[in-house]
Amino acid sequence: MNKEVVSGAFGEVFTGSFTQQEPIPEAGIEAAVAVLRHGRLHRYNTAAGEVAEAVLLEQEFAALVGAKFCLAVASGGYALGCALRAVGMAAGAPVLTNAFTLAPVPGAIAAAGGRPIFVETTPDLTIDFEDLAAKARATGARILMLSHMRGHICDMDALGALCAGFGVQIIEDCAHTMGAAWRGTPSGRHGVVGCYSMQTYKHINAGEGGFLISDDAEIMARATLLSGSYMLYSKHLAGPDAAVYEDLRLHTPNVSGRMDNLRAAILRPQLPLLEGRVARWQGLYRVIETGLHGVTGLVLPHRPQAEHFAPSSFQFRLPDWSQARIGAFLSRCLARGVELKWFGADKPVAFTSRYDHWAYAGAQSCPKTDAVLAGLIDMRLPLTFSEGDAAQIARIIRAEALAVGQGPEPEAGEMPVIQ
Ligand SMILES: *Cc1c(COP(=O)(O)O)cnc(C)c1O
Repeated sequence: MNKEVVSGAFGEVFTGSFTQQEPIPEAGIEAAVAVLRHGRLHRYNTAAGEVAEAVLLEQEFAALVGAKFCLAVASGGYALGCALRAVGMAAGAPVLTNAFTLAPVPGAIAAAGGRPIFVETTPDLTIDFEDLAAKARATGARILMLSHMRGHICDMDALGALCAGFGVQIIEDCAHTMGAAWRGTPSGRHGVVGCYSMQTYKHINAGEGGFLISDDAEIMARATLLSGSYMLYSKHLAGPDAAVYEDLRLHTPNVSGRMDNLRAAILRPQLPLLEGRVARWQGLYRVIETGLHGVTGLVLPHRPQAEHFAPSSFQFRLPDWSQARIGAFLSRCLARGVELKWFGADKPVAFTSRYDHWAYAGAQSCPKTDAVLAGLIDMRLPLTFSEGDAAQIARIIRAEALAVGQGPEPEAGEMPVIQ
């Protein structure tokens, strides 16, 4: 046994919380209290000459990502469903999406009346182009809902060319890539619509919330009408001109999912912090990546040069490990305060559900994805962690991966359950 293994078995314990985000900035708290004091929480309830917090938020986010238009809505999942309807998805249409994603993505497709078609995942956790082409051909799908799952961005240049060849429109799910970019272009600006989430565990925190961005006036007019604008769309200063609504306003149903001024007030002061947050996340990521380098049997995802990533979580793979070995490893890490999740479980646990758990989408088989998920470990990286914390977490994972990976085959035990 080498020294690392021995120190691992008796070593340090991490005491931080994997679910504790940073507090809302004071400016956000003050702005929220101001909204509560004046009482005009609904986005269309404004005093004479007042521009609603929701509108200001939309203008500021559009400027941040360089989009012509922005619409703030109630959640990321709502943004995805709204985008599908706004691009004119037909009832029952096939919609290509990543087999490795989270439940709100296929859920949004199904809720909008589409049919999720799951596309394989590469070992680097991005969409598999070969399978994408095969399924675009086989199903005739004209929409790809691309999930930048866990912040891993595929080659967007190659994807753009591939989709253009099939006449497939891309809607980007940027729930894990707000503040990220591919070759200098912000994530969310590569497809026809970009969607984001402001749920507590994402990059800016309002509890719940979502954005749609696009340069397409008609799509955004439809999205705005869908979101429940009544006939007050001219109040959307980050939306298209009123004339664009003329032909659409009587033909677009109201599916209420508006952003309110309270959450907008909480979010606005977080936008200028995003760049710094992304830099801090990258710092944490690099510390862990360095700390886990060279562990036999533990594979880190490749991060391409062109990718500017915003890693609010960390992934690694233990390919070829038995379920019993993974279980023992997760339990030992948990006993030392390190909460890791496994995407290979037969049943959904907390947020780690898989494509084959979404029975409403019909049985589909993605064997490459199955093989990747069988060894995929996931960890949250809240910004309440310091780089010192990240280094300690990496030491613990490293020691336990070596101890369990090189030890005898453990007895099959219960998988630890982390919410
Ligand atoms: C969080 C998330 C969403 C949107 O979720 P909401 O909870 O509806 O804001 C979409 N896709 C992924 C991958 C997510 O993690």
